[in-house]
Amino acid sequence: MAITKVWIEEGCIVCNACETTCPEVFAVTEDTCLIRAEVRTDGVFDANLASQSPLAGSFGRDLADQIQEAAEGCPVEVIKFVKA
Ligand code: SF4
Repeated sequence: MAITKVWIEEGCIVCNACETTCPEVFAVTEDTCLIRAEVRTDGVFDANLASQSPLAGSFGRDLADQIQEAAEGCPVEVIKFVKA
């Protein structure tokens, strides 16, 4: 299984669970969670909600399980992703 892209919908409650599960992808700030620039094709550091940038290189394969686990563990279900 691989994940092609991941983004954060509005409504994050800043619980830090996703960053604990998969710190390579998720970065929790003071008021929301963002997708790290290093794992994105566009190299932008934001929620990836509007841009829907694909994951770069092999991140989508290497981190698929952790991303899915983080999404399932999000208490408000705002982590969304697309599987290949
Ligand atoms: S797990 Fe969900 S609510 Fe918690 S910081 Fe991550 S995106 Fe926000």
